[in-house]
Amino acid sequence: MSECAPGVIRKLDEVVVNRIAAGEVIQRPANALKEMLENSLDAKCSQITVTVRSGGLKLLQIADNGTGIRQEDLQIVAERFTTSKLKDFKDLSSIATYGFRGEALASISHVAHLSILTKTRDSACGYKAQYMDGKLTGTPKPMAANQGTTITVEDLFYNVPNRLGALKSHTEEFNKISEVMTRYAVHNSGVGFTLKKAGETGVEVKTQSQNSIVDNIRALYGPAVAKELVEFKLEDSRYKFQVKGWVSNVNYSVKKMVFLLFINHRLVDSTALRKSIETVYASYLPKGMSPFIYLSLEIAACNVDVNVHPTKHEVFFLHQDAIIEKIQQGLEEKLLNSNASRTFYTQKLLPGAGATLEILEPKSKLEKTIAPKDFVRTDSSDQKLDKFLVRSDVKDVKETKIPEPDSVNTPEFRECKLSSIKILRQKFQEASSSIAREMFSAHIFVGCVNRKLALFQHSTKLYLANTTKLSQHLFRQLMLRDFGNLGVLKLDPAPSIRELALIALDLPEAGWKEEDGSKDDLAEYVVSTLLQHKEMLDDYFSLQIDNIDGEHCIVGLPLLLDDYCPWLAGLPLYVLRLSTEVNYEDEAECFRTMIEETARFYKVPGVEGARVDLEQHSTPEEEKDYKFVVEHVVYPAFKKYLLPPASCLTDKSLLQIANLPDLYKVFERC
Ligand code: ADP
Ligand code: MG
Repeated sequence: MSECAPGVIRKLDEVVVNRIAAGEVIQRPANALKEMLENSLDAKCSQITVTVRSGGLKLLQIADNGTGIRQEDLQIVAERFTTSKLKDFKDLSSIATYGFRGEALASISHVAHLSILTKTRDSACGYKAQYMDGKLTGTPKPMAANQGTTITVEDLFYNVPNRLGALKSHTEEFNKISEVMTRYAVHNSGVGFTLKKAGETGVEVKTQSQNSIVDNIRALYGPAVAKELVEFKLEDSRYKFQVKGWVSNVNYSVKKMVFLLFINHRLVDSTALRKSIETVYASYLPKGMSPFIYLSLEIAACNVDVNVHPTKHEVFFLHQDAIIEKIQQGLEEKLLNSNASRTFYTQKLLPGAGATLEILEPKSKLEKTIAPKDFVRTDSSDQKLDKFLVRSDVKDVKETKIPEPDSVNTPEFRECKLSSIKILRQKFQEASSSIAREMFSAHIFVGCVNRKLALFQHSTKLYLANTTKLSQHLFRQLMLRDFGNLGVLKLDPAPSIRELALIALDLPEAGWKEEDGSKDDLAEYVVSTLLQHKEMLDDYFSLQIDNIDGEHCIVGLPLLLDDYCPWLAGLPLYVLRLSTEVNYEDEAECFRTMIEETARFYKVPGVEGARVDLEQHSTPEEEKDYKFVVEHVVYPAFKKYLLPPASCLTDKSLLQIANLPDLYKVFERC
């Protein structure tokens, strides 16, 4: 036959189709068991006995004392999509029982020999029926029986050799069965569970119907874990869910997490939930160790994906992230309390302490521990805002200063009596935000995003701060605070004012036009304006001008912040603007505009506008220096001094970009 000849398309035999479909639903004995356990529980039984041979492959029998199946229904129970639990499509959204597809028995009948012995309360006797490929074979035979149903599954996958071959060992299949059984037994404390191997006298799993959940955990997982369990309960009306369960406290740990999760009473797994629980415990348990967790989560039926494939152990549900976060928070609280109780245990063990009333302090008295995801460093020294604007005790400030070789600090502190400055300070203070101040006072610098923006953390939140804008504000503030007392930043060699003005006039920002007059004339005007106010500029702002070899030069600039030098490429424009933008006519206006221009020059340059070239042209060395200054000079100054304007909270110069608990959530998923 030619390789290229098209394959013949044949309609698959219906039996084969059903068998393939069944193999999808039932992949191993434990899947079949789970479906049948749920059927028994749906039938409101109080006792379930499971008997297994060869890992469930030879025999898997499940006997319950539930309602039984009516004789007339035996005809159809094993047909696909027959169920007593769903009459209408709309029932799908409110279904409270586990199975609703009517697929389990049908599937089993396609891949095994299935027989059902059942008796209802009202029936005089029981009936035994056998099924093959979804159909009843023969007629149900009357037979003596107790109330309830016994379903026998034999020779599982006898007609699906591939599936049979894929299953590794009987032991492994048995262990899986035992695990499913154990978990359902813990969850269904009103039902007695027994798991036996056929032909053996001992039982593998056994619980009594009157036992509590903790009794069951003790019986099945051992007393070591049972004595370290704490009850966990949570209800949430917003996301319509409720959690109940038992979780191990900080005194208990195992290598591999034991995680029993039931959602709407169906045994499932959720990797997302598992991981977030592991992270919560990671900070309490020894490295690499895990907890024991049993959780029963009930979610409003409308939030459950009813279409989840029956073998899909892994589930997803609506509002999953929010629900998981709530559970995480709840667990965190539980553990904090159980941590406190550990402190209590050790206290009791101290020699001479004895179990006196003194030791039996309520938990609330024990120091409240902070969850790791809420760990923050705080600097909560109470401070008044005016402290940031009036430098009353210069000695105190001086002590914190590192001597600056190129600067000369003002020898004497002069108290500023100028009312114009007092008013400016008052306005400054009124416009400031104490919330933002608090944020900066206790922030932790994270890193520079670029020249303009940096990240910092405060409390459990991450903020994006506009370094440029905020530094400009800081320099305004420092000038107001240290008005008349500023140190000097010496410039050597001192640049000529005229030359600086000429350089500035060549810059596009200067916006020079021919009608403004010749550049030389304008430069002369700049020199004479500054000279006219030389004394005032020096006295109040430490801007020093001197005649060097016939040229008027800037010999000193205000030292606003130790170890901080303004970006000197901005000096020409600063000098030019001092003559054009500062209003020397009015005292208050003069100070305000002078402060404004100086802060503008001193700010950490951003990347916007004309200075876009900065980042592009700077060498890696410069880039490193700039980052160093921002981290080690500017932000520490923000921390110490900055009184941010309230506007920074609205104009995006301070933006909250993340909440740590949210980030935890995100990273845990990765
Ligand atoms: P589903 O559970 O989705 O309805 P199944 O194929 O698992 O579908 O079961 C089909 C029907 O058989 C059930 O709806 C129920 O009426 C009946 N049934 C199965 N097992 C039992 C049992 N152990 N006790 C009583 N009724 C049962
Ligand atoms: Mg079912």
